[in-house]
Amino acid sequence: MAAIDGLPPLREVIAAHGLAAKKSLGQNFLLDLNLTAKIARAAGDLSGADVLEVGPGPGGLTRGLLAEGARRVLAVEKDSRCLPALAEVAAAYPGRLEVLEGDALAVDALAHLTPPVKVVANLPYNVGTELLIRWMTPAVWPPFWQSLTLMFQKEVAERIVARPGSKAYGRLALMVQWRADARIVMTLPPEAFTPPPKISSAVVQIVALPAPRHPADPAVLERVVAMAFNQRRKMLRASLKGLAPDLEDRLRAAGIEPTARAEEIGLEAFCALARGLGR
Ligand code: SAM
Repeated sequence: MAAIDGLPPLREVIAAHGLAAKKSLGQNFLLDLNLTAKIARAAGDLSGADVLEVGPGPGGLTRGLLAEGARRVLAVEKDSRCLPALAEVAAAYPGRLEVLEGDALAVDALAHLTPPVKVVANLPYNVGTELLIRWMTPAVWPPFWQSLTLMFQKEVAERIVARPGSKAYGRLALMVQWRADARIVMTLPPEAFTPPPKISSAVVQIVALPAPRHPADPAVLERVVAMAFNQRRKMLRASLKGLAPDLEDRLRAAGIEPTARAEEIGLEAFCALARGLGR
């Protein structure tokens, strides 16, 4: 394995610091630094950006980000056992790595970041979707981040990029694609990780649009989409019952047949329906 920096290989780091992987923290580590550098490159030019990394663990992706020229990395890690290993990385890149110990769902990372910000993370699976939803639903748009380059279980990645008519299409696809471009840039087999998870993973690249693709009130759109997909096999005139007394007219006004099912309806029509329903 070609070295991307002068630091010891990750297997040695893990052995030296006793970082046996904990399942409860979603710890599946990437030990191939060429692979972590490749993930860092998928995030585009990092030289002018602060990078927020959630869950650096022993520092494989962190080292990839720094070797690929990130201006600064802010890494938020819950497992205090990883901090000494990360301190060694920080020492090798003076002034470019800040580590915050804590739960990424609770710490205020924003206070430590200077725009432009890119988020790059091999996410702990137990908090990955929750973080994505938070990053996609800020109080104001555009959000604090320019792009999200995130590792997910492959099945979750497919739900994020799904198109109408597919089984994976639903709330997550609509929530992300309403205000961002999303694509899968890399697929990784279980063996890429130590220990290997049961399923494959994929890296999704999400780039924030300056404004939503179609106008709609975020709360109304979220409510309509949630109701529609909660009973995805039902016709919309049934799954959305109760939203408005003249629901069928409103569906038709948005160009939607009342007998259609949620998974047949594209983003633009959902936005038109949300606008027609108002607050
Ligand atoms: N980035 C490393 C890599 O690619 O090898 C580790 C990735 S591992 C899938 C997930 C990491 O997230 C672990 O280091 C774990 O301790 C950390 N983690 C789990 N839950 C967390 C949370 N709520 N906040 C911050 N870090 C968390």
